[in-house]
Amino acid sequence: MTTATLTIDLTAIAANWQALNKLTNCETAAVIKADAYGLGIAKVGPALAKAGARGFFVAAAEEGVALRRVLGAGPDICVFSGHMAGDSDMIRSANLTPMINSVDQLLTHVEALPGHPFGIQLDTGMNRLGMEPGEWSAVREIAVAQQPVLIMSHLACADEPDHVMNQMQLDSFIEMTQGLDVPRSLAATGGILLGEKYHFDVTRPGVGLYGGLPFIDATPVVALDIPVIQIRDVAAGESVGYGNAFVAISETRVATIAAGYADGLIRAMGNGATLTFDGQPVPIIGRVSMDMITVDISRLSQVPEHLQLIGLHQSVDTVAGFAGTIGYEILTSLGARHDRVYLT
Ligand SMILES: *Cc1c(COP(=O)(O)O)cnc(C)c1O
Repeated sequence: MTTATLTIDLTAIAANWQALNKLTNCETAAVIKADAYGLGIAKVGPALAKAGARGFFVAAAEEGVALRRVLGAGPDICVFSGHMAGDSDMIRSANLTPMINSVDQLLTHVEALPGHPFGIQLDTGMNRLGMEPGEWSAVREIAVAQQPVLIMSHLACADEPDHVMNQMQLDSFIEMTQGLDVPRSLAATGGILLGEKYHFDVTRPGVGLYGGLPFIDATPVVALDIPVIQIRDVAAGESVGYGNAFVAISETRVATIAAGYADGLIRAMGNGATLTFDGQPVPIIGRVSMDMITVDISRLSQVPEHLQLIGLHQSVDTVAGFAGTIGYEILTSLGARHDRVYLT
């Protein structure tokens, strides 16, 4: 076995959903796009349904079809990208709820699938998806007459609680939905933590379920243990890896481990990145290669069989920091080559 072991704790995902649910008095859905942030809808979907989630959000209709196969009839599956050309059959047969983003999508939807449930996505300032205030006021009455099941918008800066954008988007969302008798949703993980004003009727956490920031109190979900392929002692003055990027200043014991950038261990994660052995940090040296990483294990008193990149000693966000990115990207990059073990 020379592939890394990715351990995904489904009980931690369920605990995180329950913890986020306890922070509000409204319904808590689950965002499970991009194959549950890379962790696998086949296992994560049922675990969240068992924890109590009744509503799920995905990015595209194709993801919704795959999720419906996993979950069976019952749970609501909402699609952020709305109703795109070519989606109608999938939306109907998998009973998906598109979040309509424009007047064009609204027309597509009511023509192709009259009476089929839909939601509305409003743009409150992020300028990414959803109807803008002008567009919305022009069709609001017609759209509401078709009885949308949800009206939602998305916050651009919810991970920065003091950002003025949060209040501006909240005000805009309230103004655009005032007087409507339709359930509303504004908050993802960050929005839940902003407090009750942001909760409305349904929250949509994603990253917090999977143990990532901004949910500081999350239970860790993921561990990544990488087997050591070979160990060698490198003399002072010798170099290690591509481009001779590391040169030993004194004798150095080097472990070559079996995972690289093709496994989502981003190549930018060079200088300053560490793995751990029994909680003790060991630095990456040289460049991350496609299938391998070299690590300075001179300070270990024993020869390790595995080194850990992500786990109790280093969170997904710590590792993201090594690569100048965010936990979301580390999670969704976790490669297909890892041996996946699910804890239940
Ligand atoms: C991804 C996404 C979410 C979930 O966001 P997290 O920050 O992962 O909690 C919620 N709503 C929309 C529209 C999204 O695109």
